[in-house]
Formats: sequence, structure tokens, C-alpha cells
Amino acid sequence: MRCLETVLLILLGPVSMLLAGELKVDSDFSGGSAKVIEVDQQKRLIRIEPEANPKRGWECWWYFQVTGIEPGETITLDVGTAPWATPTQAAFSTDNIIWQQTSAGKRNRKRIVYQQQVDETTCWFAWGPPFRVEDAQRLVSDSAKNGPHVEAIELCQTRAGRTVPALRIHAEGVSDELRKGIWIQARQHAWESGSSWVCQGLVQWLLSDDPRASALRQKSLITIVPVMDIDNVAIGAGGKNQTPQDHNRDWSEQPHWNSVKVAQQQILKQDQDGTFDLFVDLHNPDAGAKWPYYYTTTTDYLSEEGNRNLDHFLATSQLEITGPLAFKGERRESGASYDKNWTKISKNWVTKNTADHVVAVTLETAWNTPHSTQTGYMTVGRQLGMAIERYFRTMP
Ligand SMILES: [Zn+2]
Repeated sequence: MRCLETVLLILLGPVSMLLAGELKVDSDFSGGSAKVIEVDQQKRLIRIEPEANPKRGWECWWYFQVTGIEPGETITLDVGTAPWATPTQAAFSTDNIIWQQTSAGKRNRKRIVYQQQVDETTCWFAWGPPFRVEDAQRLVSDSAKNGPHVEAIELCQTRAGRTVPALRIHAEGVSDELRKGIWIQARQHAWESGSSWVCQGLVQWLLSDDPRASALRQKSLITIVPVMDIDNVAIGAGGKNQTPQDHNRDWSEQPHWNSVKVAQQQILKQDQDGTFDLFVDLHNPDAGAKWPYYYTTTTDYLSEEGNRNLDHFLATSQLEITGPLAFKGERRESGASYDKNWTKISKNWVTKNTADHVVAVTLETAWNTPHSTQTGYMTVGRQLGMAIERYFRTMP
């Protein structure tokens, strides 16, 4: 018997290897990025790096499709280079919609090796759960079906001629001059896909039946931009530190990027009308961060009222953003010692150019944790919504 098994194994082993399809890698689609270094068909190993997009910022984002998988086989993925391109757990999906994390990869100097069993013939791998231009369009158009209090707007056209979709939410309630003006934006840095999922979680909560969401809708005018740097998200480029400048170093008197220019104009208009109160810029931070934290303006750049309101906002955030990705009160200042172009960072520009009571912050949601998933990010978004509602309801 044992002998027969051995014979079968010898016969079937090579046959099953022959039956496994030819692995093919494709990144030629919206948001895709992969420079293929090697595909070893025998070892079922794929070696890639993020695609180079000269002048379009860091090479850190990767996202590609694999076909030719024998269902049930284990694919080995070897990715470089550290630290920005090598999350401890990568994202993978068998439908390009629902994303899971791989098990933890093994680090080898500047590279990392993931192994993932795949039960379909096709799958997708990415640095983190992708949020493409189409996802921003879908979020905006689906949200606008909620009724007349939710408007889909075009914030602007980009330099490459793409639309930047945005939402404006204001339910019937207090008169316009009494409304709280709130501006939420994500993805000034194209690779930080998690920040757009935080944005989606916030939008879904804002439009939900939760009485607190309803109360906030009735007393505010909320503008939401799920992706600021549409052009780099579309081509799968990193965006951070791009040429001629980073979106988040573009907040000056003469901005280069259209989304920054229009955001500035609309915020200034609301401020001049006396109806601007809160600005939140959504990002993903350094690879080592394990918890969300806020970048804030330096204390001496803020008025007494501004400091008081900022403290109150951080306190309500701590009460509401309770995890699994919890805000534990960590605050980092981005002033002159952080960056020589610190006045051209969004929240610092907003602070300088709007009324004293305005709070302007950057929320950095950790991306390199087991909870940095679609669900984990959207939970942060929902909790951020509750923090905003509590902030205005309990202002001293
Ligand atoms: Zn960022």
C-alpha cells in the first residue's frame, strides 16, 4: 500500500505542478502599481517593488492583480523597500472589494516576504486596502442619494483634467449664519489609502440614523473631500514629496495644486461669513506608529481661545475614538522645528488665516497594525464623527 502511495505521489506530484497555471502580475488598472522584478513559476514566488513614477513622490504604494493561481496554493510575495513599502501585514483580496490582511511577513533587510494561501484563481495584493478614484466617486454619488441635504459637488478639476469629487452635508435645521462650518479632507498624500477609509466611515456615520449624527447635520455645513490628490491616486503614485511640491506644503498665497487652491477659497469665504469652525486633515503616519495621533499647530501660534478649543477637541476625541485604533491623547506639534515650510502645512495655514476660535488639526491614523483594515479605519471615522458632535455640543 505504502508502495502504491509512493508511486502515486511520484506520478501525481509533477502532474499537479504542471496543472498549476502560469502566474501573471498585472498592475495596469486604476491605482495599480508594481514593478515586477521576478516571477518564479516553480517556487510560486513573486518579487516586486512599487512602480517608479518620477517626480510623483515617494515610491511606496503597490497594488496588483495575480492570475493563474491554483486554488489552495500558497503564493510567496517578496516586496521592497523598507520602511514605507513594507507593512508587517499586506492587504489581499479575492474580489478586489473586501480586503483582508496576510499573516505577518518575514523581514530580510530592506525587503519583506509574505506567504498567503489563496483559494481562487485570481487575487489582488496591495500595501493596504486600496481606495481608488472610483471609490471616491462612488462614496460621493451614493451619499447624495440620501436626499436634498447631501450634495455631490465637484471641488475642482485637477491639473490633469480629472474631477475631484466632494460632498456637502447640511440638513434642515438652524439658519445658515448659525451653522458650524466643518471641513474634512483626506489623501493629500496619495499612498495613504487608509485615511480615505477613515473618511468613508465618517461619512457613513454622518448620514446614519444615529440621533447624534442627525443633530450634527442640522446645525452644521460639512464639506468632505475623500481624495485631494486625485491625479496621483489614479496612477498609483506615492505623492508624498512630489515635484514641484507636496500637497501638504502647498498651502501658501500661490498654491500650485487646484484642490488646495479651491479648498483655501471656500474656507476663507466661510470664515469671512463668520461660519467656519473646524478643519480636519486625514493622513496615515510613520511606519512605527501603533495608535492614531494628532498633529497640531504650535501652542504659541494659537490664540488663548484657539488653544482652549484645541484642548477641548482633543479631549472629546479621546472620549470617542476608543479603538480598536484608539486615540490615547498623543499630540505632536508641527512648527518651525518640524519643517522649514511649516506655515505651508494645511492646518497651520488654516489657523493663521481664519478666526481665533477655529480648530485645525491633522489626524494620523496608524497603518501598520492588525486593526489597520477597512473596518478598523471606518471605525475611527465613525468615532471621529462622534468626537466632532460632542465637541460642538459640550463647548465651554
Ligand atoms: Zn500624509
